[in-house]
Amino acid sequence: MEDNKTIFGKILRKEIPAEVIYEDDFCLAFKDIAPKAPTHILLIPKKLIPKLSDAQSEDAELLGHMMVSVGKVTRMLGIEDAFRLVINNGAKAQQTVFHLHMHILSGRAFNWPPG
Ligand code: 5GP
Repeated sequence: MEDNKTIFGKILRKEIPAEVIYEDDFCLAFKDIAPKAPTHILLIPKKLIPKLSDAQSEDAELLGHMMVSVGKVTRMLGIEDAFRLVINNGAKAQQTVFHLHMHILSGRAFNWPPG
């Protein structure tokens, strides 16, 4: 974790504050600093995986745990029936922080196909 120089590494080490919604041994969920919807939560693994396409077979359990945690967090917030889950993978897909994160967005209408 100490080698994680991203802003999310700093949040994990408590070097900068975040509004934490949920935490367990493997992941952390906190409010996005610049929300793109009335509810905008970021769920990150504690392990540094820069982007989803870097994940390896050994990460399968962790990724599954994160998906289950999305359910837990959305139920906690009462948004389990209406949210969008987004992972931006790579700079060309608008990823700006290179520590894997899932955006949980809710509280407004969403278009399909996404922009
Ligand atoms: P990306 O564009 O990489 O998919 O998403 C990165 C997200 O991190 C953005 O939605 C951005 O608002 C959020 N973010 C960037 N810096 C901080 C920060 O210091 N604290 C929090 N809580 N969110 C941040």
